[in-house]
Amino acid sequence: MPSHSPLRYLTLFLLLAALAALSGFGTHRVAQQLGIADLQTTGLHRLDLYTASLEREIGKYAFLPGTLGLEPDVVELLRQPQENKRQPAVNAYLEQLNERAGTLSIYVIDAGGRVRASSNWQRDDSFVGEDLSFRPYFRDALNNGSGRIFGIGTTRGEPGYYLSSRLADRGQTLGVAVIKVSLEQLEKSWSTGEAPAMVSDENGVVILGSVADWKFTTLRPLDEATRSAFDQTQQYNRRALKPLGLKEIRELDHGARLVRISGDSPEMVSVYPVTGRFLAQSRPLPGTPWTLTVFSHLEQVDDIAQSRATVAGVVAVLLFMFGLMLVERRRHLKDRLAAQQALQQAHDELERKVDERTADLSAANHLLQDEIAERIRAERTLRAAQDELVQAGKLAVIGQLSTGIAHELNQPLAALRTLSGNSVRFLERGDLTTTRTNLERIAQLVDRMGQITGQLRNFARKSSGQLQPVALCHAIDNALALLEPRLRQANAEIVRHCPLPEPRALCDANRLEQVLINLIGNALDAMAGQAAPQIEIDCSGASGSARLAVRDHGPGLDDAAQAHLFEPFFTTKPAGDGLGLGLTISAGIIRDFGGTLTGSNHPAGGAVFTLEMPLFDESTADD
Ligand code: ADP
Repeated sequence: MPSHSPLRYLTLFLLLAALAALSGFGTHRVAQQLGIADLQTTGLHRLDLYTASLEREIGKYAFLPGTLGLEPDVVELLRQPQENKRQPAVNAYLEQLNERAGTLSIYVIDAGGRVRASSNWQRDDSFVGEDLSFRPYFRDALNNGSGRIFGIGTTRGEPGYYLSSRLADRGQTLGVAVIKVSLEQLEKSWSTGEAPAMVSDENGVVILGSVADWKFTTLRPLDEATRSAFDQTQQYNRRALKPLGLKEIRELDHGARLVRISGDSPEMVSVYPVTGRFLAQSRPLPGTPWTLTVFSHLEQVDDIAQSRATVAGVVAVLLFMFGLMLVERRRHLKDRLAAQQALQQAHDELERKVDERTADLSAANHLLQDEIAERIRAERTLRAAQDELVQAGKLAVIGQLSTGIAHELNQPLAALRTLSGNSVRFLERGDLTTTRTNLERIAQLVDRMGQITGQLRNFARKSSGQLQPVALCHAIDNALALLEPRLRQANAEIVRHCPLPEPRALCDANRLEQVLINLIGNALDAMAGQAAPQIEIDCSGASGSARLAVRDHGPGLDDAAQAHLFEPFFTTKPAGDGLGLGLTISAGIIRDFGGTLTGSNHPAGGAVFTLEMPLFDESTADD
């Protein structure tokens, strides 16, 4: 997963917040709409119920004012405006009727608007004699035959529902009969309901309400004309008609509205709140100019919508997280699978390469083994040939030397012969001194001969094969000693440079001497004919290597010699003089020591043969 940067977390957080807000908002709306629809259904039922109860209550008395026109006393009383003879009887009748019917008051007014008899004739504030021609119910009855109005009594300030009816006799208007009904009972029954309800009249004044404070408030502002008409008719008996503080928020279908009621009335009445947001549903009351409105509080709907919105928000976030987790998991699995595949591929590739290399290696190994076997065989052959050549070389050198040796030994032998013959004669003469001198001379000659043969034995001795520290100058001296007769004969001069301490090489002394004899012999051969041939022999030791160079002043090496110098049987010497084995054997010997033998031309003329061998180091000698 992919990147865990703070930006990613912030984006995720914002996304989750937006998701929670969106789903919460959506759910809230839906839940609220459903809740409101529910409330609407309940509200319609309540409207039905309240309308029915109100109609029943009013309908009970609807016929009552008209029936007063059937009473002869009432008719008589109204027919004669100046005559009050029947007034007591009518008063009593009305009082009785009022009592029986359970109404607030019943009274009759003559055509001039004056009250002629009333059920409350006995009270101080009786209507009798009052002029009520200004009251709307009176005028409505005169004009339309009947009047219905809710109003507040001018005398006692008691609110009530006035039902009036024109009384006529043979087409002549006699007056108006009025009954005033209290709807308090009905109101009380409403206030115990589940939600508030109200009835407003045509002026938008609340005339009935389950909340006492709502009564005689206005639902809409009253204009000046209406207010002055109220002053005239005293419909609300000069009550201050304050606005209820109802504000419409939104209109819904079927005449329903969302409203807010604010105001200083207590928040709760009975069991329901009376301020806040409500669903208001209204319906005109048949037979009246009134409107019944029931209110359903939205608190519960809001609460439910709120809690559902919260749940929806949380669920949406959880679902999203779950989805995210699934996606992450799938991606993780995919990555893992891909990594596994890549690994498997790499593994297969590696295995293939290993197989390839193994095959190559085993092939190479076989080749190498064959080669090694071949080399070993060649080495063995070469070594055998070399051993033979060494011996052959030795024999050749011995052959060469034997002439010299024979020459060397012949002289002392002849001298011995002469000296011994002389000695016998001197002894016979009794010359002992001369005999002694001769014998001493003989002994010297024998020693000299022994020296020559000893060196010859040394040369012929087979090498032990063991490498030992050999002082280079000492080896040079030994070689020179062996060649002494030849050197003398050639009148050669040897210039020898030996540094101190004397360098020592790890090699075999005898074989090194053989090599030196060969090189010095070649040098002498190269300078044959020169009056005073000169050979320079240098030795040195540095950087783990012992170096020995033999330089002559002969013609040097021509191209053919340089190309084939170390090849067996390469020689430029006349047959019988050289076998062409000397340098081959010498190079083999030096190689045995782990060293090299090279031949080249000196810049100042002549050939230089250089030996390089491992230097014997004193400091590491113990190792
Ligand atoms: P040989 O002495 O029997 O010929 P070597 O192997 O010793 O065999 O020498 C091979 C050849 O190398 C010689 O025949 C000669 O031509 C050449 N050579 C060797 N040493 C010298 C030298 N010091 N100067 C010139 N040529 C040389």
